[in-house]
Amino acid sequence: MARHGEHAVVIAASIAGLCAARVLSDFYDRVTVYERDDLPQEAANRPAVPQGQHLHLLLARGAEELATLFPGLLEDMVAAGVPIVENRPDCIYFGAAGHLLGTAHYLRDEFTAYMPSRPHLEWQIRRRVEAIDNIDIVRQLVAEPRYDAGLQRVTGVLLESGNDASAVPAELVVDATGRGTRLPVWLEQWGFERPREDTVDVGITYATHHIRIPDGLLKEKLVVNGASHDEPLGLGMLCYEGGAWVLTTFGTGKAEPPQNFAQMCALADKILPERLAAAIRAGEPIGDIAFHKYPTSRWRRYDKLKNFPAGILPFGDAVVSYNPTFGQGMTMSMLQAGNLRRALEKSADPARDFNRATAKITYPVWMMDAIGDLTMHGAEGHTPWWYHRVSRLFDQFLEAAESEPVLAEWFLRRFSLLDSLWMIPSPKIIARTMRHNLRCWLAERRAARLGLPPPEPASLYAVTERSRSTSP
Ligand SMILES: Cc1cc2nc3c(=O)[nH]c(=O)nc-3n(C[C@H](O)[C@H](O)[C@H](O)COP(=O)(O)OP(=O)(O)OC[C@H]3O[C@@H](n4cnc5c(N)ncnc54)[C@H](O)[C@@H]3O)c2cc1C
Repeated sequence: MARHGEHAVVIAASIAGLCAARVLSDFYDRVTVYERDDLPQEAANRPAVPQGQHLHLLLARGAEELATLFPGLLEDMVAAGVPIVENRPDCIYFGAAGHLLGTAHYLRDEFTAYMPSRPHLEWQIRRRVEAIDNIDIVRQLVAEPRYDAGLQRVTGVLLESGNDASAVPAELVVDATGRGTRLPVWLEQWGFERPREDTVDVGITYATHHIRIPDGLLKEKLVVNGASHDEPLGLGMLCYEGGAWVLTTFGTGKAEPPQNFAQMCALADKILPERLAAAIRAGEPIGDIAFHKYPTSRWRRYDKLKNFPAGILPFGDAVVSYNPTFGQGMTMSMLQAGNLRRALEKSADPARDFNRATAKITYPVWMMDAIGDLTMHGAEGHTPWWYHRVSRLFDQFLEAAESEPVLAEWFLRRFSLLDSLWMIPSPKIIARTMRHNLRCWLAERRAARLGLPPPEPASLYAVTERSRSTSP
């Protein structure tokens, strides 16, 4: 591994900062992570990460990336009681954009997701990072990076302690301070341009209760019913380690979510099958309801800047924060860690390569989120004409996927960011979608002619496809 210098600093010890520190430890003699928040010795919520109280989904791709960054971490989580969710209808109930996937048929058990609570996951990663010899995690607020105008580079950070500020030199500073990053302001102060910001005003509010559901009422481990064109409210619930369920409801496009447990139950009655809603109703709420507002998804386009100072790079949510209801943020931070490693392998000043590589992985995910939000979820922002066309085509795809397992699997894998970050079906998948929808349409017409009730789409798949190979 190429050695790049004596000291690297990471500002912040949340998920992104910890993943960045792990990579930097292979390239620098010492890495110091400064975090302003108290870091608990056990898995516990932190005030600076309020999202930790809400449903936090680690996508299957995120688990794969974690296993590469921290070998043995997934096994540790399972040993600590973190539930595993397999891609099977008895494990998941999954509604997306008004379509229910993966329940009308048996999906191949092809991938596994791990469901740690956010505090547990962060704690598992933190204790692994703490165990790395050349990494120190220090409780300390960073006032700002130090910029040397003569060298046109960042040369370390200034720490804030009471009225004093002390300087710490570093060859590289990684800004992982999350959505509230001040890097655009600092760039301006140092004489650089601020990055352009792409935004989608999603107007999301979360309302979450932890509940205990009596054993035996639910066979599912994950229940998700996202917002749709006709219903701005959605719901997700997971059984975390420790056996309590986190029940998160949310409103999109500025719709107000439920304000108390009774209203949450009423929403479940409306958007979930009776069996699932009854299990929630039988649940016993623990503690108080928690709310969180997420008005805007934001992508800071550092990749578009002609000039960028050496010695610093933005990382994690400080670059891009996605609509949280899609559950992508942590996984995308872990993918950025891969970009950081590749950029460091290429060059001692990785910012340019890293910013470009991060834009490349961000684009497909950002675009699909934006299409969904702007055409279906009442979000506001720049909406190219073709977004509506794509959205309509995708609706047809999801309609077919309700009763066609190969299509459902394709969607669930892509939603989990496996195989590719692009949610673009291959010609074979498109042909399969058209064939299935045509078959359903013809069967409905035939039934109408004979005065029979319309056939179940799933039964059409069963008659015509079950004996064939299910590979696309
Ligand atoms: C409501 C909500 C739900 C979400 N749900 C999911 C989900 O289901 N799945 C998923 O993958 N992602 C989800 N996300 C996104 C996910 O939380 C983030 O993508 C992920 O935590 C990476 O963020 P980060 O580490 O960059 O920043 P953050 O987690 O926001 O952490 C920023 C850190 O910076 C520290 N800090 C800030 N300034 C300073 C300073 N000057 N000095 C020292 N420390 C500083 C803070 O104390 C904090 O620890 C959700 C987000 C929200 C808001």
